[in-house]
Amino acid sequence: MSSIPSSILIVGSGVFGLGTAYALTQRPEFKDTKITLLERLQFPAHDASSVDSSRIIRADYPDAAYSRLAAEALQIWRGDFGADGRYNESGLCIVLGKSDSELGKAYMEGSLKNVQEKLGLKVGRREEGGQLTVLENEAAVKEILGSMGGEVGQSGYVNWTSGWANAEAGLTHMRKLAEATGRIEFRTAEIKRLLFEDGSAVEGAELVDGQTVKADLTILATGAWSPKFIDLRGIASASGQVLSYFKVSKEEQARLGGNPALLDESYGFYIIPPLEGELKIARHGYGYANLQTIPHPERPDSGETIIVSLPRTKEDVHGLGVPPEAEQGCREFVASRIPDLADRPFSKTRICWYTDTPNSDWLIDHHPKYNGLFVATGGSGHGYKFLPVIGERVVDVLLRQDRDELGAELRKKWKWPEKRHASDHIWTDDWRGGRKGMILDEEFAK
Ligand SMILES: Cc1cc2nc3c(=O)[nH]c(=O)nc-3n(C[C@H](O)[C@H](O)[C@H](O)COP(=O)(O)OP(=O)(O)OC[C@H]3O[C@@H](n4cnc5c(N)ncnc54)[C@H](O)[C@@H]3O)c2cc1C
Repeated sequence: MSSIPSSILIVGSGVFGLGTAYALTQRPEFKDTKITLLERLQFPAHDASSVDSSRIIRADYPDAAYSRLAAEALQIWRGDFGADGRYNESGLCIVLGKSDSELGKAYMEGSLKNVQEKLGLKVGRREEGGQLTVLENEAAVKEILGSMGGEVGQSGYVNWTSGWANAEAGLTHMRKLAEATGRIEFRTAEIKRLLFEDGSAVEGAELVDGQTVKADLTILATGAWSPKFIDLRGIASASGQVLSYFKVSKEEQARLGGNPALLDESYGFYIIPPLEGELKIARHGYGYANLQTIPHPERPDSGETIIVSLPRTKEDVHGLGVPPEAEQGCREFVASRIPDLADRPFSKTRICWYTDTPNSDWLIDHHPKYNGLFVATGGSGHGYKFLPVIGERVVDVLLRQDRDELGAELRKKWKWPEKRHASDHIWTDDWRGGRKGMILDEEFAK
């Protein structure tokens, strides 16, 4: 960026957009910049990726850079930011089963190595001050997760310095911090398209009601909806992930509420301890593609169309459920892990949308073609935990500044890619559960 913009328009009020808006207010460089944040739904948007009962907060990554960044975020979650139940340091237990994929094993082993060697967490039993408890066999896993009553896995580890956040409460807290600065104009408004000028610049956005909002710099932070506004084919796309919830009794809440969160690599499912009598079970999967043919977003009047995967949520289809394979997957998993819940009806289900990239690195960069456009997306199912720190890092990239060695490494990871993935939809190469290649409509039709 050659000069500081006098106006910045941020589109999308999830972790990436809201975090960035707040971080801009904290930088002296932007003290005279007008900042506008647009969100299509009343905040907090209930179908956004960043809004849910819970998200896992962990530094357990096989990639040391994300591990370090997560450790920075965790420090903040443990303070005021995570107070009043916004963050719960329950621990996170990662387990392997009998038939894990090589990717799944590598994910767990790499994570353990990083938190031990790069973050220096102490191995040992929790009662003896251990921060990491390595679980060598089924009996050791059972000692941790026996209260679930079912099969629990063959080996794994617990990181007692990880936990989970009340996702909606965390985002609402960030919004309060942002509001308190008095520097941001918050608007509930949906953009229809970006305003492309001469094929070389972006000047703001047109809203669905026909108004325009102009700005020197536009930051696109629309999560899984982003492929609607710029051509992200082969770079990032929406993949639908399955969430299911079960009501639990007071006794079950007490019994399961003290467990660590569980990431089960053999199924690709995870369980977050119950919040207010509701337990969440979900799949970290390859997800569903929801392929749509849309006018080319950068040349809407050209007649050219492209195929991209975009979210379909309860906003689009009232009462939208999940495909039969998802119900069956959740049921099988819960029956094996918490048999008491095997026949209990779901209290609700949801398809929540990741913005997947080929290797799960985020996409945070100036657009290579359009002046005045910056992109902050590509969360790939792991962005939430960084809520307290992501905005600062986005602003560093915006200013092309590296505050530290980690910043320089992250900036490289988040760069606009030189090559696009071959297919329209991204089936990530990262470790995931479930099947690869599921198309949402085909799965609903089965
Ligand atoms: C099921 C699921 C589980 C996850 N679990 C974890 C976890 O355990 N730990 C973790 O760290 N991360 C997790 N993640 C990932 C994390 O939640 C995301 O990476 C992060 O929330 C993405 O934030 P975002 O700002 O990119 O997207 P979003 O939160 O989706 O925000 C984008 C915003 O843009 C708005 N928008 C879209 N179109 C328009 C428009 N036309 N005009 C105006 N506004 C618009 C949307 O309404 C939305 O509010 C999970 C994600 C999902 C879906």
